[in-house]
Amino acid sequence: MDSSLTSIRGDAPTFSGLATQAKTVARDLDMLGYPAANWPSQVTAPDGTPVADVLVVGAGMNGIAASASLLFKGIRNIRIFDRNPAGREGPWLTFARMDTLRSPKTLPGPALGIPSLTFRAWYEAAFGTDAWEALYKIPNATWVEYLAWLQRTLRLPIEHEASVRRITPLAGLLRVEIETPQGERTLFARRVVLATGRGGAGGDHIPDFVDRNLWPDLAAHTNEPIDFGALRGKRIGILGGGASAWDNAATALEHGAGHVDMYVRRPVLPQINKGRGSASPGYFYGWSALKDTERWSLFAYLNDAQAPPPHETVHRALRQQGFNIHLGTSVRTVERRGRKVVIHLSGAGALREHDFLIIGTGFHVNAGAIPELGDWSSSVARWRDRYVPPEELQRPGLGDFPYLGPGFELMERTPGQAPELSQIHLLNHGAALSHGAIASDIPGVNVAAERLATAIAASLFREDIAPIRQDLEAFNELELEGTPFLAR
Ligand SMILES: Cc1cc2nc3c(=O)[nH]c(=O)nc-3n(C[C@H](O)[C@H](O)[C@H](O)COP(=O)(O)OP(=O)(O)OC[C@H]3O[C@@H](n4cnc5c(N)ncnc54)[C@H](O)[C@@H]3O)c2cc1C
Repeated sequence: MDSSLTSIRGDAPTFSGLATQAKTVARDLDMLGYPAANWPSQVTAPDGTPVADVLVVGAGMNGIAASASLLFKGIRNIRIFDRNPAGREGPWLTFARMDTLRSPKTLPGPALGIPSLTFRAWYEAAFGTDAWEALYKIPNATWVEYLAWLQRTLRLPIEHEASVRRITPLAGLLRVEIETPQGERTLFARRVVLATGRGGAGGDHIPDFVDRNLWPDLAAHTNEPIDFGALRGKRIGILGGGASAWDNAATALEHGAGHVDMYVRRPVLPQINKGRGSASPGYFYGWSALKDTERWSLFAYLNDAQAPPPHETVHRALRQQGFNIHLGTSVRTVERRGRKVVIHLSGAGALREHDFLIIGTGFHVNAGAIPELGDWSSSVARWRDRYVPPEELQRPGLGDFPYLGPGFELMERTPGQAPELSQIHLLNHGAALSHGAIASDIPGVNVAAERLATAIAASLFREDIAPIRQDLEAFNELELEGTPFLAR
C-alpha cells in the first residue's frame, strides 16, 4: 500500500479497496479486449536500434490518456518520458499553489470511457463512498495520487527524470535526444507526441515591459520556484488577476508577507467562466470542424472574456491581512532599483516600490518556440500563415498559435520545407485554437486522447500497408476444419 495516500479527511486508504479495484480494472480491460495485440511493423533505425512507434513526451494527465489510448488500439511499442521524478509530473505539487483543483470532483478524469478508471472509482475504492460524499473538491496531492495509480494500473512504460532535449528528422524518422541522470541517449521514433503541459508551446508569458534583470532575486513567474519563507514581512507586487496570480497572493500572505499589491489592467474582474460554459461535447467534438474564421472568432471571444479566479482562491487571499488589489491599473514599466522593484504605472506618473515581484500573466503560445524542436520550430505553420482575421478580430499573440492538422500534427509552414513535422503531434494548450480546449484541461482530455490515437493508428496503418497486406496474404487459419467444405 502507498502509505502517502490520505483522503481529504486524513483517512488512510483501504488496501483491500484498491486491490479489488485493480481486479475490476483488469476485468473491464479484458472484457473490452484492451490492449489489442500489437500490429504496426517493426522498424529499425539507421544505427540498427529498434524504433519506437510513438514516443510520448510528458507523463501528466494528457500523456497518460494519450499513451493508454494508443496501447488500447494495439500500438504497444511506445515509450514515455518525463523529466520530473515519479509523482512530480505536472504543476500540481509545485507551481499550482492552490489547495484544491478548480474543477468539480465529478469529472471522470483521463478514464477513456472506462468507469473503473475514473477518479471517483479510484477515490471510492481508496477511501469509501462516505468520504466521496464528504469530498468538496480534489486536493492537488490526491489528484497526483490518482494519476500515479493510473500510470501503475495501466502499466505505462514511463521513464522518469528523462528530459527530451531535441527532436530532429532523420531518414523519415524522428531522432530524439534524451538527457537522464545516467547521461545522454538517442532514440528513434516514428511519431512523437508532445504532451508537455501548459507552458509547453512557448513557455512562461512575461510582459515586455518587465526588466529581465529582476531575476533571480527580485522576481519570479508563478510557474517558477518561489521561496515564500524569504518573503516574510516583505512588500510583494503581483502582475495579473487570474487564478494563479490569486493563488500566489494567498500563498505569500499565508507565509507572512507584509503586503501584497495585485495590479490588474481590467477595471473589473471577469465574472463568468466562459470556458466552463463551453465545456460540452458539442465544443469538444465540433470545434475542429468549424471554418478557420469561426474558430478564430470563437477563440478571440473566449480569450477576451478570460476566466474569473475561483471564489475559493479569492476568499483565501481576502482572509489575510495586507492584501490590496489595484483594478484598472496599467503598468508601464517594471525595473530594478538597487534591492527594490520599481513599478511605473500609466498616467499621473505614479510609482510603486516592492521587495519582490510575482508575474502572474500566464503562458505564451508560440509555434516558433517549441523548445524540443530548436531551430526546426521556425518551420512550423502558425495561424498567421494560414488565416488573416478582419481588423476588429486582430489579437496580438493568437497568430503565433500552431496551425495543427486533424490529429494534432504539426504542419510545415512552406510545403516541402519540413514534411517530417507532421510526425509530431502537439497535445497541449497550443492546440486550443485548432482543436478547442481539449488538450489541456480535464474536461476534454479523453476526447483529445482518442482523436490523437485514432489519427496515429490511421497514419501508421497507411505507412505500413505493404507489409500489413503481405501478412494478410500469408494469414492462413482455416475456419472450416472438420466440415465437409474444407478445401486445401
Ligand atoms: C496552476 C495550474 C492549475 C490548474 N488547475 C486546473 C484545474 O483545476 N482543472 C483543470 O481542468 N485544469 C487545470 N489546469 C490546466 C491543466 O489541467 C493542467 O495544466 C494539467 O497539468 C495539464 O496536463 P498535461 O498532461 O497536459 O500537462 P502536465 O501535467 O503539465 O504534464 C506535462 C509533463 O511533461 C513533462 N515535460 C515537459 N517537457 C518535457 C521534456 N522536454 N522532456 C520530458 N518531460 C517533459 C513535465 O515534466 C510534465 O510532467 C491547471 C494548470 C495550472 C498551470
